[in-house]
Amino acid sequence: MDSYKAPLKELARPYRKAVLKALLVLCVIGAILFSSMNFLKGSYPLAFVEIAMGIYSVVVYRAIRHTRHLERWILAYLIPFFIAMMFAMATPRATSSAHAWVLLIPIISHLLMGRRLGLAVSLFFMSVAAVIFLFRHLDRPEMMQALPITNIAVISMCILVFSHVYEVTRETSERQLMKIAQTDPLTGLANRARLSDVFEQEKHRARRYGSPASILVLDLDHFKDVNDDHGHETGDLALQHVAQIFRECLRATDLAARLGGEEFGVLLSNTHSRQALEVAEKIRATVASTPVHINNNVIRLTISGGVAEFGTDGDTLRELVREADIRLYKAKEAGRNRIVPAFSPSATTQQKSPG
Ligand code: GH3
Ligand code: MG
Ligand code: MG
Repeated sequence: MDSYKAPLKELARPYRKAVLKALLVLCVIGAILFSSMNFLKGSYPLAFVEIAMGIYSVVVYRAIRHTRHLERWILAYLIPFFIAMMFAMATPRATSSAHAWVLLIPIISHLLMGRRLGLAVSLFFMSVAAVIFLFRHLDRPEMMQALPITNIAVISMCILVFSHVYEVTRETSERQLMKIAQTDPLTGLANRARLSDVFEQEKHRARRYGSPASILVLDLDHFKDVNDDHGHETGDLALQHVAQIFRECLRATDLAARLGGEEFGVLLSNTHSRQALEVAEKIRATVASTPVHINNNVIRLTISGGVAEFGTDGDTLRELVREADIRLYKAKEAGRNRIVPAFSPSATTQQKSPG
């Protein structure tokens, strides 16, 4: 599971909301100014459109205060806003300087809608603006010369390119930061925060489609002895070795996380507790049969675990980890190197310790 999209969307929300609020306030001020001037000039349709956009800005400002659908409101505002802009440019009485507003399109679009949608919306409305410009100035030879047209085209392109490059770079560095914040630095596995985020997505999916999901909690046995006998650095290498086993035993849709110390949590999507037990058994058997070779030392490791099933054992990650933890504790009590399944709390799949 490699997608950081959902948390990134959450992360972008506060700053997009701040940008949208600033735009709405400026639009109200602009609407008052321009509608008054256009009214005095006799450009009644344009004055009317500007008043309507001003009122709509106030409505949107109030609506976005507590909305959970900011992205929809952004679209619902920007599309009429850009259409009003095109209308202002196309109005015969409008001055040709109205075209300067085109330069706002790529900046606002990228800040509020991200790189993909921002670029698509910018290209569309900038092309419409170019067509309007050509039609309006066809009969003005001083504007239809190479130099003014090239000037306007180049500066529009520059602002589009800068806005796009800025947004791509911002999203990339945000994604990298998010990855660092959600990765355990020693093992490279996910950390608890990422497990929690992915679990929330999986929970919605499981509820929506009625699909199963399970959680494993696994803990290395007598790991303190590994540190005591071979040193902390060797203990760290052993943890990395176990993390590699997790990667090899799991599907791309599963998520292994280091919960802390030598304890791991695994989210198995689309997996009933019986299948989860098989996966846990595979991990347990692989850990037990793959000793770590470090500095001429052969370190044998074993792992114990508990399984919990979404729905049956709880609906939150906290509840599921608690249930799996209780079973893990039972596995430890029963002699370690074993998994306690979800569906039968008292039963254990028991293995002989290799040590
Ligand atoms: P049990 O079978 O009951 O789980 O015994 P245990 O020794 O594994 O459990 P205990 O909780 O007593 O000890 C866990 C040990 O894990 C203690 C600590 O030194 C070690 N440990 C925790 N985090 C790290 C780490 O990041 N690196 C290393 N090398 N050791 C760690
Ligand atoms: Mg342990
Ligand atoms: Mg532990």
